[in-house]
Amino acid sequence: MEEQDRLDENETQPATSAADTSVLELSFSQIEAFTMCPQRWWLTKRGNVRRAPGEFLILGSAVHQTIEADLRQRMANQPPLGLDALKQMFSAFLREQFALEDPDGIIPSARRAERERDGIAVVIAYLAEIAPHIRPVAVEIPFEFAHPDDPSILFRGRMDAITFRSRTRTIVDWKIVRRAWPPGEEHRKMQAAAYLWAEACMGWELSNQVTFITFPPDWSPEPGDSVRKVDWRPTKPSAEKRQMYAQLVREAAAAIRAMEAQGDFQARPSPRCAWCEVRGACPAGERYLAENNIPPQMPSIT
Ligand code: SF4
Repeated sequence: MEEQDRLDENETQPATSAADTSVLELSFSQIEAFTMCPQRWWLTKRGNVRRAPGEFLILGSAVHQTIEADLRQRMANQPPLGLDALKQMFSAFLREQFALEDPDGIIPSARRAERERDGIAVVIAYLAEIAPHIRPVAVEIPFEFAHPDDPSILFRGRMDAITFRSRTRTIVDWKIVRRAWPPGEEHRKMQAAAYLWAEACMGWELSNQVTFITFPPDWSPEPGDSVRKVDWRPTKPSAEKRQMYAQLVREAAAAIRAMEAQGDFQARPSPRCAWCEVRGACPAGERYLAENNIPPQMPSIT
């Protein structure tokens, strides 16, 4: 997995219960999870099992909160927050996220410290290379709408930011990646099509592009230190690609309903099981990692 997405970033309310089949609530991250492994979707949405805390998920949330605070300050024409203030803010958000997501302290303190160094490095890169140029007009924008072709599907989500500069309206998505994306990766991301489709369905002004701003690791002269750089990846999904995404949502909803009727959400073991937060409830995933000698990247919680 290139980076751990904030799987539930857009879902502040519980999904519909298994008994309520009239409306199916979906999000980009749910569609992605279901497409990769139906069993994972079921365990996280319906199975009521414990999830392992994800240190990169926690890091991503704290970075998003920090950047959001800075952008709101700029939008309100307040003096920008300086580096020390942002670093302190990030560390406080990180502590809060660890307390919330990992109250039992499953993630060792050394790993927590590594993630703090990563986050501070991201804040430094953000302040040096993005903050002086970005022109935000909205941040953390929620959306929710019934699928235009099937009102029984409710699609929900959240955009990180919208900027407007040189007559270009851009949806911005921050990603804390573990390694730099290969060339052209941004054009393969269905998330960009999903965002533009959402704008159209909400009746909003359509953005000209989606820019993924990733923060891959950079070489550090100090062993154990963390340095991050900024990698801007703009993309302009076509109208056909937006329609493809709308169709994908319908197909995923139909497959979920069919599996629900059969009571069978298949497990699809793969190297991604190493990153699965519900692997502790999935014997197939545990077996796959053991048989293929793949080290788990998330703890197994039962
Ligand atoms: S461990 Fe693997 S097979 Fe099992 S639910 Fe997770 S992703 Fe699917």
